[in-house]
Amino acid sequence: MTSRPDPSADTAVLGYDPTARTWVTGPAATTTSFAAAPAIEGELLADEASRRAVATDLGNITVQAPGAVLRPRSAEDVGAMVRFCREHGITVSTRGQAHTTLGQGLTDGLLIEARSLNRVHSLGPDTAEVDAGVHWKDLVLAGFDHSPRLTPPAVTGYTSLTVGGTLSVGGLGGLVGALRTGLQVDHVRELEVVTGTGDIERCSPHHRRDLFEAVLGGLGQCGIITKAVLDLVPARRYARTYVLEHTDNAAFFRDLRVVIEHPGIDHVYAELYAPGAEPTHKCYATVFHDGPTPPDDATVLAGLTAEPAVEDTGYLDYVFSIDRLVDGMRDTVGWDGLLKPWYDVWLTGSVVEEYIAELHPTLTARDIGPFGISLIYPQRRSTLTRPLPRLPEPDGSDWVFVLDINTVAETPGADPEFVEEMLERNTRLFADARDRYGAVLYPIGSVPFTEQDWRAHYGDQWETFRDAKKRYDPDSVLTPGPGIFRNG
Ligand SMILES: Cc1cc2nc3c(=O)[nH]c(=O)nc-3n(C[C@H](O)[C@H](O)[C@H](O)COP(=O)(O)OP(=O)(O)OC[C@H]3O[C@@H](n4cnc5c(N)ncnc54)[C@H](O)[C@@H]3O)c2cc1C
Repeated sequence: MTSRPDPSADTAVLGYDPTARTWVTGPAATTTSFAAAPAIEGELLADEASRRAVATDLGNITVQAPGAVLRPRSAEDVGAMVRFCREHGITVSTRGQAHTTLGQGLTDGLLIEARSLNRVHSLGPDTAEVDAGVHWKDLVLAGFDHSPRLTPPAVTGYTSLTVGGTLSVGGLGGLVGALRTGLQVDHVRELEVVTGTGDIERCSPHHRRDLFEAVLGGLGQCGIITKAVLDLVPARRYARTYVLEHTDNAAFFRDLRVVIEHPGIDHVYAELYAPGAEPTHKCYATVFHDGPTPPDDATVLAGLTAEPAVEDTGYLDYVFSIDRLVDGMRDTVGWDGLLKPWYDVWLTGSVVEEYIAELHPTLTARDIGPFGISLIYPQRRSTLTRPLPRLPEPDGSDWVFVLDINTVAETPGADPEFVEEMLERNTRLFADARDRYGAVLYPIGSVPFTEQDWRAHYGDQWETFRDAKKRYDPDSVLTPGPGIFRNG
C-alpha cells in the first residue's frame, strides 16, 4: 500500500524546499512552501538520529551526514526518490553495509539504506534472485538449507556485506572462489537497476549490456542495484585447510605458486605480518569435500617445502570464520568505531613477489595495528570476465593478486595525526606501486584519488564509462563519494 508520511510525525519528510535547499519535516510544513515528496511505501526520514547514524563508513575517516535517509520497500520507491532528487539537484548515494573506508558511499543529499531491500525471492536449482540489501551470509545459509545444498561460487571473507555493495566494487571471493571462479561480478546473470533518471531497468549480458557492465564493479556511478540474479553451485559439506607458515618471502611465494596451480585445491589466500613476527607469511589452502573421506594429503601437498598444519571444519564454520573474528572485535574492542585507513591494490603475478619483497621490510606493527590484517588474494585472470573492476594490464601471467594492508587504529576516537600519516602513506605507496609495478586500485579502501587519478585508473575504459555515466546518470546525481566525475 502506498502512503504519504504522517504529517504529525516529527521525523517523516514531507518534501524539499528548493530555495533554502532543505528537507521539510512535519513541524516546518505549516510555515514553509515546498515541493511535496513522492508517495512511497518505505520511510523517508530527516531526523538527526537517522542522519547521524549513516554519516560515516567503516573507515571513520570521512564524515558527511545526508540531508535525508530513505529506507525503501521497493525499486519503485528508489525510482520515485531518484526522480525527485534529480529534479531538485540533490545527490543520491546508496549504502549497503558501508564497509568501505574513505566515504565512498556518503553524500549530503539523499542516502538510500539498501538493507531494507532484503528478500531472497527465489532459490535454486542453479540461481537465486535476491534484493540488493541481502547479506551474503543470508544467501549462504539459505543455499545450504536447500536440498540439494547450494552456495554462491564466490563468497567474501566477511559475509555480512550486501549483494549490491560487493557487486558495485567487484566482490573478491575472500574465503570461497579464488582459483577457478572469478569475482562475484562474474556470477551475475541479471540485474534490476534504478538509473540516475529514476528509470527501473532489467539488464544482463544479453539485454542492455552497456548498463549491466557499467553497474557491475561500477561504484554506484550509473545505477542503483535493487535486485540480482546470481549463480549458485553445489555446496560441499566440509573444508580441509592446509596452513603453511614462512618467514622468507621467496620460500613463501614458491609454495604459494604450487598451491594456486594445484588442481585439487579450491581456495587460497595468505596473510602477511609485520617483520619480526613469527611467522611473517601464512598461506591457507583449502579443499572442499563431502566426506567421509578427506582429501589425500600426500597428493595435495606434493611439491611444497613447508610442513602444513591441517584444520578440518564444516563448510559453514569455514565460511563464517572471519565473521566470528569481526563480531568478536565488535564486542570487545569497539571495532566499528576504530579508524581504518586501508590500502588495497591489484598486482600482476609477474610482479607481486618482487613488490612484496620490497614493501614488506618497510612495514611496522603500526602499519597493520593489533586489530588489522594484511592479506594476499590470488585470482586467475582468465576467470575474470567483466570490464570492471579495473585490473592491471596483462603482462603474460595468468594470475593477478589483491594485496590489502588493512590498517586499524589501536584505540577508538578521532586521531587526525594518525589519519594524515596513513593517508599520506597510502598515497605514497600507491603512486610508487602504480608507477613502478603497474598496480591498480581495488577501490574499497582509503587512497585519496583526484579526477586525474580516476581517468588513469579507467585507462582505455574511461570513455566507455563516462559515456555510460552521461547516458544513465545525465545530471550526475548518483554516488558522488569517490569523486570520479567531479567535473562532469
Ligand atoms: C572484515 C572485512 C572483510 C572484507 N572482505 C571482503 C572480501 O572478501 N571481498 C571483497 O570484495 N571485499 C571485502 N571487504 C571490503 C568491502 O568493505 C566491501 O566489498 C564493500 O564495501 C561492499 O560491502 P557493503 O555492503 O558494505 O557496501 P558499501 O560499502 O555500502 O558500498 C560500496 C560502494 O557501492 C555503493 N553501493 C552500495 N550498494 C549499492 C547498490 N545497491 N547499488 C549501487 N551502488 C551501491 C556505495 O555507495 C559504495 O560506493 C571486506 C571488508 C571488511 C570490513
